[in-house]
Amino acid sequence: MPSSQSEIAPVLFVGAGPGDPDLLTLRAARALAAADIVLHDRLVGPGVLALAGPQATLIAVGKEGFGPSTPQTEIIALILAFARAGRRVLRLKGGDCGIFGRLDEETGPLAEAGIGYEIVPGITASVAAAAAIGQSLTRRGRNTGLRILTGHDAEGFADQDWRALAQPGQVAAIYMGKKAARFVQGRLMMHGGDPATEVTVVENASLPHQRIVATTLAALPGCLEDVAGPAVILLGLAPRAAALALPELKEALS
Ligand code: SAH
Repeated sequence: MPSSQSEIAPVLFVGAGPGDPDLLTLRAARALAAADIVLHDRLVGPGVLALAGPQATLIAVGKEGFGPSTPQTEIIALILAFARAGRRVLRLKGGDCGIFGRLDEETGPLAEAGIGYEIVPGITASVAAAAAIGQSLTRRGRNTGLRILTGHDAEGFADQDWRALAQPGQVAAIYMGKKAARFVQGRLMMHGGDPATEVTVVENASLPHQRIVATTLAALPGCLEDVAGPAVILLGLAPRAAALALPELKEALS
């Protein structure tokens, strides 16, 4: 029998961060330990999932890159069914749920069904990527704003304000940008972007197999050919030399 509305615990939407379990919030870790049902994106790694309690049932949903995906309607149906059955449901998404995470597509039906929800913020991939290269995403005198872009939207390559982005000193973090890189490069150069603009690709940010590729706008598409994992393209940022020495430094300190 379905529980009455009053017994339904709020569904938690939890940001799992960029991959390294150390970058989870304490709130996320506690929520994971207490959840009955964890519906997680395939991108969320085993280190984070290991923090779920022994009572938890883990269910992989969502998509991985351009691979197979669970239809959004099915994910919503699962969330609703488990919540109505009185289970503590935790929806775990990579990075922060509110950045290219289709959050509203899942919270909307909950609100319509009269089921409460809470959002636990997470460290988004671009923030981890900037940290990996020792850079600040904003800097006085360089950029007064930061753009968070997707290479793709539902219709294909995502359109942006290319003229503004092509201006010197702009910083943008491009998610899901691998396939769109040539398109982005073309649009920026068409709008006067300097081919020598610094660009850094950070693959698997925060994970042991993290990789940093420093390049330029002119050379960007060619650099991405062997980037297989999730990657953020940081437009307008080059790695700081000191940051590249960090892995060795970390090793020395451990
Ligand atoms: N909600 C997530 C983004 C989901 S979209 C967040 O806030 O980070 C998926 C895209 O995120 C990937 O295509 C990639 O561009 C980026 N991404 C996710 N994890 C990443 C990681 N560890 N390193 C680099 N990019 C990552």
